[in-house]
Amino acid sequence: SKRRGRYIYPRYKPEMNKRNNELMTIQSDLYRALERNEFSVVYQPKVSFSNGRILGAESLLRWKHQTLGMISPATFIPMAEDNGLIEAIGEWVLATAATQSKFWQLDGLPSFLLAVNLSGRQLQEDGLLDTVRSIIRTSGIDPTLLELEVTETFLMQDIDHSLSLLHELKSIGIRLALDDFGTGYSSLNYLSRLPVDTLKIDRSFVVDLEESKERYNLVRNVIRMSHDLGMQVVAEGVETQTQFELLKSLNCDEVQGYFISPPVSPDKFRMLLENQPLI
Ligand code: C2E
Ligand code: CA
Ligand code: CA
Ligand code: CA
Repeated sequence: SKRRGRYIYPRYKPEMNKRNNELMTIQSDLYRALERNEFSVVYQPKVSFSNGRILGAESLLRWKHQTLGMISPATFIPMAEDNGLIEAIGEWVLATAATQSKFWQLDGLPSFLLAVNLSGRQLQEDGLLDTVRSIIRTSGIDPTLLELEVTETFLMQDIDHSLSLLHELKSIGIRLALDDFGTGYSSLNYLSRLPVDTLKIDRSFVVDLEESKERYNLVRNVIRMSHDLGMQVVAEGVETQTQFELLKSLNCDEVQGYFISPPVSPDKFRMLLENQPLI
């Protein structure tokens, strides 16, 4: 019957085909994006709740495709992790951001902690330590002003290996942040073993703060416990005044999100550095 057919055959959707074709184009063009100079880095400030000054900035990768325009890292980073390109791309981001940061410092702008994302795949690569050391040397960035953001999903895969790698990274003098906290499975107990300096509370928790008393209490406990462990706490994806006020009252250290500023071009970030405090 007509009715049954509706369930058996998917409806033909031209936009589905278009999306699939786009994804295939993106996947194959990713191989050339570096040499075609299509990547850039934007910077999003992390600001002190107490005085509105920029304590850090997260480097975020952007790809402008010749015909498709801007492509989200949420789309192409997982592809780059699958095909191995993430190692070269990640190295490019680190070198670009570290060099930029050193330029700003030489220009006499206020110093801040530069954060760069590391994907799980990069953390499994043998040459990671050498790569990080060599980029610090060539860019001239002060290693104490560099922070690498790692996610807990990676850490849980092989705890012993992860721990020794993180300790080696720390021995270079850089800082480590645990990204997207709350989205994986790491227990609070396990957290005390990690040599991380900063914990980033995932946006999903920030969104729930106003709605759920349980979430509110959870975030309060996470902040307290992090402080007990000597860690700084950054709240990600803060978009509203209410979220801002709640997190501030919970003694969260730093705020990152559209409420303060979206990720911006180097020129705009420079203006932010020159126009502090931001709140
Ligand atoms: P992430 O590391 O969790 O980065 C934060 C994401 O949240 C960024 O998305 C940022 O633009 C967005 N964001 C910041 N403030 C707000 C806010 O107030 N509201 C909302 N809704 N979103 C906000 P973006 O730039 O699209 O990056 C997405 C993800 O792609 C990143 O998530 C990270 O996992 C990955 N990524 C981006 N750049 C790199 C990179 O250079 N290397 C690696 N390995 N991954 C990267
Ligand atoms: Ca991040
Ligand atoms: Ca994050
Ligand atoms: Ca994320």
